[in-house]
Amino acid sequence: PTPHSAQTASPPAETDERHIRDLVQKQRTFFSSGKTLDISFRKERLRQLQQVIRQHEQELFDAMFADFHKPELESYATEVGFVELELKQTLQHLHKWARPRRVKESFINFPSRSYIHTEPYGVSLIIGPWNYPFQLLLNPLIGSMAAGNCAVVKPSELTPTTSAVVAKMIRNNFEEEYLAVVEGGVPSTQHLLSQRFDYIFFTGSTQVGKIVMQAAAEHLTPLTLELGGKSPAIVAEDADLELAARRITWGKFLNAGQTCVAPDYLLVQEQVKEELIQRINQCIGEFYGSDPMQSHDYARIVNDRHFHRLSGFLKDGLVRSGGQTDAPSRYIAPTVLDQVTWQHPVMQEEIFGPILPVITVENMQEAIRVVNAHEKPLALYFFSSNKEQQQHLLKYTHFGGGCINDTISHLINPNLPFGGVGGSGMGSYHGQNSFDVFSHQKSVLHRGTWLDLPLRYPPYQNRLPML
Ligand code: NAD
Repeated sequence: PTPHSAQTASPPAETDERHIRDLVQKQRTFFSSGKTLDISFRKERLRQLQQVIRQHEQELFDAMFADFHKPELESYATEVGFVELELKQTLQHLHKWARPRRVKESFINFPSRSYIHTEPYGVSLIIGPWNYPFQLLLNPLIGSMAAGNCAVVKPSELTPTTSAVVAKMIRNNFEEEYLAVVEGGVPSTQHLLSQRFDYIFFTGSTQVGKIVMQAAAEHLTPLTLELGGKSPAIVAEDADLELAARRITWGKFLNAGQTCVAPDYLLVQEQVKEELIQRINQCIGEFYGSDPMQSHDYARIVNDRHFHRLSGFLKDGLVRSGGQTDAPSRYIAPTVLDQVTWQHPVMQEEIFGPILPVITVENMQEAIRVVNAHEKPLALYFFSSNKEQQQHLLKYTHFGGGCINDTISHLINPNLPFGGVGGSGMGSYHGQNSFDVFSHQKSVLHRGTWLDLPLRYPPYQNRLPML
């Protein structure tokens, strides 16, 4: 496809309820066989997944390009390569993560030894969004497999080409009683949610997160919700503006702003606003050229509904950069929007597109007040060279995770649990956290048999003063 085309493959067919019911039943039976409890089985299947992904790399790049013009480098760095790294690290450390962990004894239980055993929940359901259609489905899946669960994965119907490739990869290489893909949109997801699963891992919008949590409550199924929100990038007057501009521009317009942890809006100190806007405009030019529509490195909006929703935001405020749109190719230029208020629609919901509103604050106290007056965001980015100010802001704002003097990069460190809080979700994953999230911690005390003090047994008589 040419850089300015946007293809729309037809959405995947819905999956019928009976098929889903049978599938979950088959997975239940397979899980009961105990096969997935062996670490060697898990490793073998993870290695198989590694191989299958390698074989399909180009097909995945092409699929994501077809779905929304995702540049190949971004598809590698933020999707396929990212998943391959997670797989590699999981295979490297799985033995250690899965070992029973001994903890300190309590004196009262003397003599004893205490261990935490990790065990899989059973059959897991993983529901993914469209914006990182491979990574956000596969990374949780790696955690689920590592922990020894069977899994049903549901890709987003809005990226149908990627959904089809993932379905093919899994179907041709894994037995469905262990690992299965169910394609489809809302009806298929609703059929899935009416089944009893042992763990649900959902990535998507806050609104659908509530539907998923309600369905999970029906069966008391534990779940992780990776949701969205309006993540601020705060720029203080003492920040390195050149660096801040470059890192904000990259984080915002990566994937055309369709990133859950993209800076949603800018909160900047009045004194440096003009310079920051100018530097961001300059970065946009450097990254995507004078006409970003011709750039091979700039994605498109995923569908017409989102294209029209985002175009509507451009009616308010003052466009300082970009602002151009092209409906047939669902192109929206990287846009900086000045003179925006919290009453404008662009500030009333998560933007999830290449529009960066700029709001000024007098000082950092005001920035803290603004952030805390809204739902706890998934991410927060703070640009400042003052260490004390950094600590102050970290202490008094509440958010899922974030960076000081950067954007997005916190999720690339597998040692940092990644997830939201409040409106942006619950639970976290990546690296060992992914293994932990799909494992139940079974606490077991092994009591010695050579001593049995009679103190705890009735009749208690006058023992209270002795305790
Ligand atoms: P979405 O909630 O519309 O869809 C997510 C999944 O839920 C899809 O598989 C979809 O088929 C299914 N779904 C949609 N409506 C449903 C319904 N009524 N009942 C049952 N299932 C339904 O989200 P999206 O548009 O695909 O993704 C964008 C959202 O996801 C944004 O809010 C973004 O911030 C968030 N997100 C969060 C993270 C994270 O890691 N926290 C990552 C990416 C995206």
